[in-house]
Amino acid sequence: MTARTAAQRPERTCVGCRQVAPREQLVRLVREPAPDGAAPRVRVDPTGSAPGRGSWLHPEASCLDLALRRGGFARSFRGAVDTGLVARDLEASDPTRVEQVEEPMDIR
Ligand SMILES: [Zn+2]
Repeated sequence: MTARTAAQRPERTCVGCRQVAPREQLVRLVREPAPDGAAPRVRVDPTGSAPGRGSWLHPEASCLDLALRRGGFARSFRGAVDTGLVARDLEASDPTRVEQVEEPMDIR
């Protein structure tokens, strides 16, 4: 089950924990242009194939937290982005998993 034949299994790097994982274990995030010159917003892409620059994240609060704290989104999207909607999108797409992590992890 841990075969490393990556050829036909697409893998992506989580923008939070930076671990490589099979694509189906991650959710895709896309940058959505905002009106009137505000910073672009990051949204969950439920289809995994929306146009535009994307990044990948485990659908877990801990990875979202890491991405926010380490600036993973800004790095991945090459600039400032509004990430205020990501947590809500994640909850909407998978409430059980997000709810499980309540205490922020201390990464030091
Ligand atoms: Zn992760």
